[in-house]
Amino acid sequence: FGSSRFTTATEPSSGHGQPPRVPNLIGGAFIDSKSSSLIDVINPATQEVVSQVPLTTNEEFKAAVHAAKKAFPSWRNTPITTRQRIMLKLQQLIRRDIDKLAMNITTEQGKTLKDAQGDVFRGLEVVEHSCGMATLQMGEYVSNVSSGIDTYSVREPLGVCAGICPFNFPAMIPLWMFPVAVTCGNTFVLKPSEKDPGASIMLAELAMEAGLPDGVLNIVHGTNDVVNAICDDDNIRAVSFVGSNTAGMHIYSRASAKGKRVQSNMGAKNHAIVLPDASVDATLNALVAAGFGAAGQRCMALSTVVFVGESKSWEDKVVERAQSLKVDCGTKPDADLGPVISKQAKERICNLIQSGVSDGAKLLLDGRNIVVPGYERGNFIGPTILADVKPDMECYKEEIFGPVLLCMQANSFEEALDIVNKNKYGNGASIFTTSGAAARKFQTEIEAGQVGINVPIPVPLPFFSFTGSKASFAGDLNFYGKAGVNFYTQIKTVTQQWKDLPSGSGVSLAMPTSQ
Ligand code: NAD
Repeated sequence: FGSSRFTTATEPSSGHGQPPRVPNLIGGAFIDSKSSSLIDVINPATQEVVSQVPLTTNEEFKAAVHAAKKAFPSWRNTPITTRQRIMLKLQQLIRRDIDKLAMNITTEQGKTLKDAQGDVFRGLEVVEHSCGMATLQMGEYVSNVSSGIDTYSVREPLGVCAGICPFNFPAMIPLWMFPVAVTCGNTFVLKPSEKDPGASIMLAELAMEAGLPDGVLNIVHGTNDVVNAICDDDNIRAVSFVGSNTAGMHIYSRASAKGKRVQSNMGAKNHAIVLPDASVDATLNALVAAGFGAAGQRCMALSTVVFVGESKSWEDKVVERAQSLKVDCGTKPDADLGPVISKQAKERICNLIQSGVSDGAKLLLDGRNIVVPGYERGNFIGPTILADVKPDMECYKEEIFGPVLLCMQANSFEEALDIVNKNKYGNGASIFTTSGAAARKFQTEIEAGQVGINVPIPVPLPFFSFTGSKASFAGDLNFYGKAGVNFYTQIKTVTQQWKDLPSGSGVSLAMPTSQ
């Protein structure tokens, strides 16, 4: 990679038969790690090694934090208008390079090119929103709280913040994090997923091309050790995490024990409730798209559908539509779903499908033995549907994170609500109905942070926040939107007095009160 430019997976650079090594970004320089421990980044459709990602040494990690700390004083004092203009430029550059970014994502992560474009676009929207940070970060002012005294509050950046990312949205999730953090005036250390780090590096290059000063954004690669170092480092003030519950709860407790702010978005089991009065065609399309899109590897995938009453008979139609989906390498223009991320993920998903069958669920569609011509070594699983699933089955209790739709049944709307609310996760839930009253009841009683009414994947746009709840989220302030700005800022409240005091007014040692 040399010391300046990262060459993407689509334009291999080494020329020596060795896969390129993904560099860290420290203090404005893309630097090869000295570490001899490397992890292969593997194309999930072909098993080719795309690049190698280093397990960053502790010394290199410290250097990244030091660079972020050093850059903070001048960055926080850089006018907000300048910081916004860098985001304005960044959004333009992301648009310019969206095809390259998408190709990198498809190569490293497997999702279809069209879906990869969506991955970039949903992150781009957060960059666009950050362009209005001056208004978002505005403080408050009350004049004359007491005679001649005014109080105002300002939202100040925290210092060095860090972000730890999952594999499933290699562009969107880094873009949930650093644009908001740095536009608020913080500096940042990003730890991309070791499975698909390319998009983060490309985005960092674009951020630097947009004018982000050296040290404001740093990138370190690795796994548990570098994550633990982030949790423990006293110079880091806040940690944003997105990923599984195992890692998320570990990071939440370890980093908050060190006094850091933590926002931790974790796993999910998102349900759809289908009422018999729902519009059939639109509902079936929504179930198939949200169940199998991105091969089910979305934290907002609708992985479970609860059919109420007669709507159970729609199961066959869901199977028909799911059967017609095309499973192929993500670069193929007509692919609907690509491979899952790894051999291990495929094995885990297949085991969970088998456990469903052993526990008595009915396998209406089995995608486990699919072979994709030309990509026989890929980690493909075709759309799979299990019916008659019960809450105590392993396949229901675990997040499957693959192209598997579970079908359950309820005799009444109340029973369906009860099933969903008993699930430990609370990321999202959707209802499909033509009844306003039922939709309103659902909105009020459902215990999920993101609610869809005839909308299968209700991920809020950046002027709202990503509001998962229950076991899907730990922390107080969600990602992006107003909560995201609050997460990356702290409030300073100033009370000022400008008045001509009459002479001889004396000294009072009593607690000042406003009278
Ligand atoms: P993961 O937890 O395995 O990895 C996420 C990050 O944590 C990676 O950077 C990884 O290196 C690190 N990590 C993993 N295990 C660790 C450990 N024991 N100690 C320290 N660090 C560790 O998650 P993943 O497989 O990359 O992503 C899939 C998961 O992410 C799913 O559960 C999905 O639901 C969830 N997810 C949630 C959201 C959301 O907003 N709620 C969004 C996307 C993905």
